[in-house]
Amino acid sequence: MLSTGHFARLPRPKSSFLLLRPTPYRARASPFSSTAAGRMKVVPVPVRDDNYAYLLIDDKSNKAAAIDPYDVRKVKAAADSAGVEIVAAITTHHHFDHSGGNQAAAFPHAPIYGGSEKVKALSKLVKDKDGFNVGNIHVRCLATPCHTQDSICYYVTDDAANHPGGVFTGDTLFIAGCGRFFEGIGSEMHAALTYLGTLPNETIVYDGHEYTKGNVAFAKSVDPANRALARLEKLIKDGIIPNERTTIGDEKEWNPFMRLDSAPIQKATGGGESSAVMDALRTLKNNYKG
Ligand SMILES: [Zn+2]
Repeated sequence: MLSTGHFARLPRPKSSFLLLRPTPYRARASPFSSTAAGRMKVVPVPVRDDNYAYLLIDDKSNKAAAIDPYDVRKVKAAADSAGVEIVAAITTHHHFDHSGGNQAAAFPHAPIYGGSEKVKALSKLVKDKDGFNVGNIHVRCLATPCHTQDSICYYVTDDAANHPGGVFTGDTLFIAGCGRFFEGIGSEMHAALTYLGTLPNETIVYDGHEYTKGNVAFAKSVDPANRALARLEKLIKDGIIPNERTTIGDEKEWNPFMRLDSAPIQKATGGGESSAVMDALRTLKNNYKG
């Protein structure tokens, strides 16, 4: 387990965006680039129009897990290109655009992890706080029901701590946004995002869709004076996002769904209990036309 104190001692620069400061994690040059010193690395594999599958790679053993490998051919090609063997499939929730590539024949020797029997080809049912390993990488399951009741986020660390840790958030947490409440209510999404907020600030967010531009437009409509949002907007304009990833610490600064207590979000929603604010904020987002 990564010590949270390891990074807590680092000074937090004015620009907290992870990849603008020295870090062993670099995914910038190419989605297939490798970290020379790192044991754990994550390779995004864009699938469908705007989904992200990922390879979670243990460099030392050349083993990898495929996260939401909807497009099996593409994910396998990425694994071949990286020279790794897929030994597990990890599913964030049962929606077809995430679990639809799980057919057992695609990964015959790999356990398929997920949060309910609704997950296609499930072989390892997981619940909150369960853990397992992919090579030398430790994976911890965080139950975050709301978008679906079987939504699980997966927090990954390696014991060498060459990587600050990452979390695969599926359709629960997006950059500057969150997933729709298909099977849940505001209190559940508030609990889910609060739970993710307990991870170290340096934790890199690997989300399930590329929705950043629309999310930022909405976030600005409810939190127009937020300087962190202006920073995110510039990162998008400069082409850094979406090629780079944000952190849990970043999201706490600019994601309106993680800022329910802030004055602008209270004002935009009419205030009140966190659960009511979350429901009101999601309704505003659902109705937002940009
Ligand atoms: Zn979904």
